[in-house]
Amino acid sequence: DEDRALLSAYEDGDTGPEVTGPAPVLAVVGRPNVGKSTLINRILGRREAVVEDVPGVTRDRVSYSAEWNGRPLTLVDTGGWDIDAKGMASRIAEQAEVAVEMADAVVFVVDATTGPTATDEHVVRMLRRAGKPVVLAANKVDDERGELAAAELWSLGLGEPHPVSAMHGRGVADLLDVLVDVLPEVSGIDALSEVGGPRRVALVGRPNVGKSSLLNRLVGSERVLVDNVAGTTRDPVDELVELGGRQWRFVDTAGIRKRARQASGADFYAALRTQTALERAEVAVVLLEADQTLSEQDVRIIKTVTETGRALVLAFNKWDLMDEDRRHFLEREIEQDLQHVEWAPRVNISAKTGRHADRLVPAMERALDSWDTRIPTGRLNAFLGELVAANPHPVRGGKQPRILFGTQASNRPPKFVLFTTGFLEPGYRRYITRRLRETFGFEGTPLEIGMRIRE
Ligand code: GDP
Ligand code: GDP
Repeated sequence: DEDRALLSAYEDGDTGPEVTGPAPVLAVVGRPNVGKSTLINRILGRREAVVEDVPGVTRDRVSYSAEWNGRPLTLVDTGGWDIDAKGMASRIAEQAEVAVEMADAVVFVVDATTGPTATDEHVVRMLRRAGKPVVLAANKVDDERGELAAAELWSLGLGEPHPVSAMHGRGVADLLDVLVDVLPEVSGIDALSEVGGPRRVALVGRPNVGKSSLLNRLVGSERVLVDNVAGTTRDPVDELVELGGRQWRFVDTAGIRKRARQASGADFYAALRTQTALERAEVAVVLLEADQTLSEQDVRIIKTVTETGRALVLAFNKWDLMDEDRRHFLEREIEQDLQHVEWAPRVNISAKTGRHADRLVPAMERALDSWDTRIPTGRLNAFLGELVAANPHPVRGGKQPRILFGTQASNRPPKFVLFTTGFLEPGYRRYITRRLRETFGFEGTPLEIGMRIRE
């Protein structure tokens, strides 16, 4: 029957449903108050509100998943920056540059009611250098009378200004059509992910956890090749390091080493850097300060890693500062706050003394192995059969959803699709995830389980 046919198609090496590359990334760039947040909300259909427009308040989220005419895209919001008056133009351009670096294309938003400013022109110069496709949105064109003002923006030299009213939705559909046209089908940002090259690592963690100390320790005596990747920035981006007999690419080490840009907006800037690094990495080593109470920011960074679908290693740094008491508390904190990533390998290190630094590489390798894993469909279905026999889905309202079969749709990270006769409740899906981990290991990788319900 049909199910069988699908099943055998997967076994023949067809990867199954919903296998796509990463969605193309669109950076929304512009001065404060031109309407970037309003535009993003409009595009998202207000499904995920971009909150906090209070100056000085930094936003956690910088990217959002959206869709236009069935084409997925990722929007990067650069609106959270707290810009002070002094040196404003250069700061906006500088920070927008980071966003542009991680984007496939840019929508540059200008307020048509005020016309182009010196800051706008500054940003335009940066955009030219970056060499990415740019679409110019002339915002706040709420009615026909505004069209003339929009036309004046031809003077920016970015081609046709597209008049929109983010607030009322006017022109936004046309703008999206243009944007989808200039974006590639699949993000080219990840172009370095060719299989067989050095594995890519992001060292992340809040400021002062010891990222640059660890980096120095790891690259210390080793051969280092600094690699100026796409050549889009002035700074070298990655470092290639030989560790444990193989090459590793530490991504965005320029961002780690450069601790200077720490004026206003530093938190947001750090969050954006973290996200940029994660987008380009395969495995994240999240550094935590073992001698300090775990913070919300730590937990948030870990969450970003799992949401980005990267392999994860937790490194508790500054272990040289530990005593028995603190060790005891730390165990309790891990139980409380890191329960959801209990599958991640943990290493207790000291970047300062070098303690256990040699355990990082084996941990990264285990996490990456899990991340790469493919479970053959036959094996997966034998597992599902046993699981259901031992513990079937509870009956709800006289009905009991059955699992017809499952397949691993993709890896890196492993994603499973279960074909069912009804909705599997979250508790039952968690049970399946737990059993998957118990059976197949998956140390160090997030897992995803999707459902296809057949009526
Ligand atoms: P951001 O700082 O670039 O993110 O700008 P916001 O989205 O916060 O918008 C700044 C201000 O402009 C807010 O008061 C918005 O309500 C207003 N605004 C945004 N889009 C439009 C528009 O299309 N027309 C009008 N008239 N006002 C808008
Ligand atoms: P980053 O901001 O995450 O790059 O952190 P740094 O590497 O700059 O480290 C911040 C501070 O913590 C510096 O004063 C380091 O010397 C110190 N530090 C880093 N690792 C260790 C460690 O393992 N033990 C101790 N005692 N101090 C450390």
